[in-house]
Amino acid sequence: MNISYISYTQLVTYLRCGRWYQFKYVDKIALPTPSGIVLGRAVHAGIETNYKNKLETGEDLPIDSLLDAYNDSFEETALEVDVWELPKEREKDLGYKLLKAYHPKISKTVKPILVEEEEWINDPELKLNVIVKKDVETKDSIIDIKTISRLPETIPFDYELQLAMYSLYTGKRKVQLHALGKKHLKAKVLHKEFNDEELSSFREVLKQAVRGIRAGVFLPTGVNHKWACAFCEYGKLGLCEFWREK
Ligand code: SF4
Repeated sequence: MNISYISYTQLVTYLRCGRWYQFKYVDKIALPTPSGIVLGRAVHAGIETNYKNKLETGEDLPIDSLLDAYNDSFEETALEVDVWELPKEREKDLGYKLLKAYHPKISKTVKPILVEEEEWINDPELKLNVIVKKDVETKDSIIDIKTISRLPETIPFDYELQLAMYSLYTGKRKVQLHALGKKHLKAKVLHKEFNDEELSSFREVLKQAVRGIRAGVFLPTGVNHKWACAFCEYGKLGLCEFWREK
């Protein structure tokens, strides 16, 4: 399969399960919008509104402005959802609480120089463009913002992979994950500084993944891949011959 670009989402999908990648990016089988995506996207919209304003004015907005942007985004994406895991209004209320936990404590520590920038960076050795989609960039670091179920102690593997990709292709070694935890309704900042060894190890993973995709190798990750099947919609729809129950 010929590919001329790769994003973090494509890479992490391929590493999670090659068959999943094939369903999504080769066969292009579309799935219904999961309700869980609505809150994350809307929280992101609220925070983005603040940092975009801060780029221009140097000041944080009042919390009500973030909540308005959150509300608009939530209602817009909600139109795409047919089935809600939690009742819609309960889900929406969680997002209000998360923004109230994040904004007063963390926004004031961030001085953005770029917000929501997408760059396509040519990698001549891999003969493709790498898509770097930064939530926020400051003078010395790249920041990614995620709404997750539980707040972790360290940056989780899949988000570290994303930050390694962005670090490698922007040259900024320092990264931050701004995590908003739905379970305890708290927010925290996790820091990391990549070293040469970590970035060259990431590059090797990326190279091998690109080779695998180009060679058409689309297999599940090992025998015990049921951890991935547990949250794979293609499996739940009965489309996958490798699907394994919990
Ligand atoms: S059901 Fe399991 S093996 Fe099949 S695509 Fe999904 S994660 Fe991969």
